[in-house]
Amino acid sequence: MSFSQFQSFQPIAAIATTPQALQQLQPLCQGLNAILWIPNTLHPLPGTQVYSGSLSEHLATLWSSHRGFIFGLAAGAVVRLIAPLLQHKSSDPAVVVLDQTGKFVISLCSGHQGGADQLTRLVARQLNATPIITGATNALGLPALDLLGLPFGWRQGPGDWTAVSGAIARGEQVNVFQEVGSTLWQTTLPPAHPFDFTPNSEAKFHICISSQRRLSDTIQVQWFPRVLWVGIGCERNTPRALIEKAIEQTLQQYNLAEEAIAGIATLDIKGDEPGLVELCQAKHWPLRTFPSEVLREIKVPNPSKVVEAEVGTPSVAEASALQAAGVKTLFVSKQIYRDQLPSASTSNRIGQAVTVAIAQAEQEYTGRTGQLLLVGIGPGELDQITPAAQTAIVQADVVIGYSLYLDLIRPLFRPGQIVESYPITQERQRGERAIDLAQWGLTVAVVSSGDCGIYGMAGLVFEQLRARSWDGKTPMVQVFPGISALQAAASRVGAPLMHDFCAISLSDLLTPWEVIQNRLKAAAQADFVCILYNPRSRTRTEQLHTAKRIFLEARSGNTPVAMVRSAYRCDEEITITTLEQFNPDAVDMLTTVLIGNQSTGIYENWMITPRGYLGK
Ligand code: SAH
Repeated sequence: MSFSQFQSFQPIAAIATTPQALQQLQPLCQGLNAILWIPNTLHPLPGTQVYSGSLSEHLATLWSSHRGFIFGLAAGAVVRLIAPLLQHKSSDPAVVVLDQTGKFVISLCSGHQGGADQLTRLVARQLNATPIITGATNALGLPALDLLGLPFGWRQGPGDWTAVSGAIARGEQVNVFQEVGSTLWQTTLPPAHPFDFTPNSEAKFHICISSQRRLSDTIQVQWFPRVLWVGIGCERNTPRALIEKAIEQTLQQYNLAEEAIAGIATLDIKGDEPGLVELCQAKHWPLRTFPSEVLREIKVPNPSKVVEAEVGTPSVAEASALQAAGVKTLFVSKQIYRDQLPSASTSNRIGQAVTVAIAQAEQEYTGRTGQLLLVGIGPGELDQITPAAQTAIVQADVVIGYSLYLDLIRPLFRPGQIVESYPITQERQRGERAIDLAQWGLTVAVVSSGDCGIYGMAGLVFEQLRARSWDGKTPMVQVFPGISALQAAASRVGAPLMHDFCAISLSDLLTPWEVIQNRLKAAAQADFVCILYNPRSRTRTEQLHTAKRIFLEARSGNTPVAMVRSAYRCDEEITITTLEQFNPDAVDMLTTVLIGNQSTGIYENWMITPRGYLGK
């Protein structure tokens, strides 16, 4: 068992000091691959390690090397233990407390940037416990200010974060000025929110989302989406310091923020330029390189014959910035820096020089590896969803699905989560959208009712990935199974699937009716218990009549038939009848039809199929 949903919190350490806490935490920690530390007074279990000496001293040795802590001890005791270790909310690990009964999970410290709120939600879903999150924005259904841009890889800039967060929590109006980056976060806001998107310099509190440094006298915070692609041209062995200085000076001159840099772009033969490679590594900037044949085709403001003669393209910095950003116009056209000093001259190429140009992309670079979580949410009620699937939904930046299914799982959504609902017909659009977002770097959950791999979205998404020449790894794909309608329906009428069975969908949207009919005949003759999915829709009314006729040709009119409509939903309806009596017109698209085999019987309104034929 491994819970990839917890990856961003690894390494996680857990601590239990009582047998009850040990019982609660041990299975969870095994799944998380987290070491569960216990005192020598407790009996060790698989995955536990015994600490000696005092817990506070031991905790001090774990503190800086772990990103998450799960404590199975009294919240007060945890407060005393961590107090001397806390430094700042931007660097402290997530601290979560599990109560001794396992019913409540508390986000104790570093709720936002440390991720404790999110870790709490994930642990709570795993344990079927109640998450306790005490932050103000969470209670208002608002995204936390200091988490707003994280799904999109934005960098936090300067500002009075405490003051602006406070204003949001008090419901005071906060002006938002956004000139770059995704506006998807805005779609997550509840109807009553404190944000004002109209230009208003008079407002007291501001959020500025830009690639430029915008200083103002008001109380504000800045987020920097990473939209700037910096094109670099330089001679062999140009020192890192000179390249760095050249970039710094360009940024300064144009009032741009270093935090808004997405990455560096250049010519392919510069891909191993030591100074450039070193700088990119130090700054965690991707280095994108392009061959001269690509760059030479790009229209730039300042082409150079000298450069063309040398490397086969009249522009390196400008062309590669444009190419990396995927735009047509530059934000900053070519600047040439010589040694430490800027120079306007392009003709004098003696000595070391760096050329810088900057283009601004429409879409920010997230720097994240996207994930596609294909999630089966079961037939309806929340308690029919596996904890793993629930955790996947909680973890996702974006949840995509058919509106009816999203309504069923609404209680699982968290503030700030992007939820995109589509009509039932737009399955392809759902899949394409999910892949687009995941390729961009987001974690996207695509939900299907029942099991996602049984007439669900999983197969469709895999097909679409294949059509895009997916490498099988990026985006990462994980499939979370769910209770399918056949299991849900069966459980409501007894045990009809105790022997070999066969599921057939009557939908001829993607399968020729001829094929479906042949399958019905074969299954009927082979005496499989049959489960009919998609039995009927508003326009597709004849198929079920035909299916009934086919079964009557091969089976007795007394064969038990069950119609289970909306299993595990509030409008559930169950009818048990016989093949003869069964009325196809009483069935709709929310129904699953179960047809017994020759030994299936009805006993006190329960539909039972014996395990074998021997006892007949
Ligand atoms: N992936 C789903 C099936 C989707 S096809 C699963 O594994 O269950 C849609 C069909 O599933 C419906 O037409 C109906 O036949 C059946 N179905 C889905 N949910 C159901 C429910 N709660 N009760 C009864 N039938 C259901």
